[in-house]
Amino acid sequence: MTAAAPAETPAGTVARLRAAFRTGRTRDLAWRTDQLKRLRALLTEGGDELADALHADLGKSRKEAYRTEIDFTVREIDHTLERLAGWLEPEPAPVPDVLAGASAQTVLDPLGVVLVIAPWNYPVQLLLAPVAGALAAGNTVVAKPSELAPATSAALARLLPRHLDPDTVAVVEGAVPETTALLAERFDHVFYTGNGTVGRIVMRAAAEHLTPVTLELGGKSPAFVDRGTDLRTVASRLVSGKFLNTGQTCVAPDYVLTDPETAPALTDALAAAVEQRFGPDASASPEYGRIVNERHFDRLVKLLDSGRTVTGGAHDRATRYIAPTVLADVAPDAPVMREEIFGPILPVLTVDGLDEAVAFIDARDKPLALYAFTTDPAVR
Ligand code: NAD
Repeated sequence: MTAAAPAETPAGTVARLRAAFRTGRTRDLAWRTDQLKRLRALLTEGGDELADALHADLGKSRKEAYRTEIDFTVREIDHTLERLAGWLEPEPAPVPDVLAGASAQTVLDPLGVVLVIAPWNYPVQLLLAPVAGALAAGNTVVAKPSELAPATSAALARLLPRHLDPDTVAVVEGAVPETTALLAERFDHVFYTGNGTVGRIVMRAAAEHLTPVTLELGGKSPAFVDRGTDLRTVASRLVSGKFLNTGQTCVAPDYVLTDPETAPALTDALAAAVEQRFGPDASASPEYGRIVNERHFDRLVKLLDSGRTVTGGAHDRATRYIAPTVLADVAPDAPVMREEIFGPILPVLTVDGLDEAVAFIDARDKPLALYAFTTDPAVR
C-alpha cells in the first residue's frame, strides 16, 4: 500500500506557481492564447458535467446554465482571444517637458500569482471569467471556488487540472479556514467576488502584503418605473431579471419604486408575468431554481412578511423552494429593505415621482445597478 501524498500547503502552492511565473513562459502571447483555448475546451467538453453540478447546487436548468454560465464564459474567452494581441501592443505615451528628448510607452506587464475567490451564485462564470482574465494577462492563478456550491466546486477541481497546466493554474477548494490560510500568502493581485463583509476581510489580508485587490460586491439595485410606461413590457423584463437564478443574482432588480397611481397596475402585471414565465406553480417549472442552502432559505422566509403578497409566498424548506414573490405596500424600513434580498422576493414601494425616487436611492448605499423604465428622455 502506498501512502497518499501529503496535501500541498498554501505556501507550497503559491511557491510552485511563482516559480512557474518566473520561468517567463506565461508572458508569451502563444502561451496565453493556448491557455485560453484550453479553458474554452474545458467549458465546451465539460459543459454537461458543469451543468449537472449547477443543477445539483442551485436547481439551475440546463438552458440557464449554458446561457448564464458556460456559454457566457465561452463568449468572454472568445472576446479576449480576438483582442488579446492588440491589447498587448505597447501604446506610445506622452512625456513631460522636463523629460524632453525621451520617449515613453505604456506596456502591460503581468503581475505574477493571482488569487481568484468566487461566490456560489454563478459559480462557474464568476470563477472562470476572472481566471481567463488573469491568464490572458500572463499570470499564474490560484482559483478558489465557493464551498456553498459544492458540486460545482468539485467539478471545477476535477476539470481545471485536466485541461490546464497545474503548475500555472491551481484549484484550492474549501471554506473559511482554507481561504484564510490562502489569504495569509503573498499574492500579486486578489480578485474577490462576494459579500462586503468578507470583502473587508479580503482587503485587510491583502493590505498586509500591499497586494492590490479587485472587489466585486453586492448591493440593493433599484428599479424605477415611470408613469406612462408599457407595464406588460416592464413586468416581463423585471420578472426575467429578478427571478433568473431564483433572484440570486448580484445585479437583479432588488426593489421597485413607482408612483401610487401606477403601483396597482404594475403589481398585477408582475403577477401575470410570473405566471406566464413559470406557470401557475413555479415549483413544477423546470426553469425555476432553488435557494442555495437552508441558511439563505431561512433568511429569505423571514422577509416574506414585509408587505402584502400580490403573488407567491409559498415555500418548502425540504426542497429549498420559495415561489417567485411580489410584495406591495412595503414600508421603506421593512425588513426586506434592510439588506440585499438576493432571493425571489420583489418589493414594490411607492414614491411621488422621479425626484423622490432619486432622493430615496441617494439616501442609501450606492447600488450595484439601477434600472429606469421610462419613455421620457429627460429621465433616461
Ligand atoms: P460566498 O458565501 O460563496 O462567499 C464568497 C467567497 O468568499 C467564497 O469563496 C467563500 O469561501 C469566501 N469566504 C467566505 N467567508 C470567508 C472568510 N471569512 N474569509 C475568507 N473568505 C471567505 O458568496 P456570497 O458572499 O454569499 O456571495 C453573494 C454576494 O456576492 C452578494 O452580495 C452578491 O451581490 C455578490 N456578488 C457580486 C457580483 C459582482 O459581480 N459584483 C457577482 C456575484 C455576486
